[in-house]
Amino acid sequence: MTTNWRQRAACRGLDPELFFPASDEEAEEARVICAICPVRQPCLEHALAHREREGVWGGCTERERRRIVRQRRKSA
Ligand code: SF4
Repeated sequence: MTTNWRQRAACRGLDPELFFPASDEEAEEARVICAICPVRQPCLEHALAHREREGVWGGCTERERRRIVRQRRKSA
């Protein structure tokens, strides 16, 4: 899978710790950045495809990504 989208990531150069919050509640700062990121969708799809277990990807926490996977399975 191409990872060219990373070059346009809004989080590029930012503190990675922002994107690995201790809880969903602490993910707000990362979500705000993801909300204006031009590559939010490919980032999220990458995390889903690679079963990324930690961190905020595409504006979604691990818990939210699990929910997306469940919903997709149901509608498949
Ligand atoms: S969606 Fe969020 S985590 Fe993904 S590249 Fe953009 S800013 Fe980074």
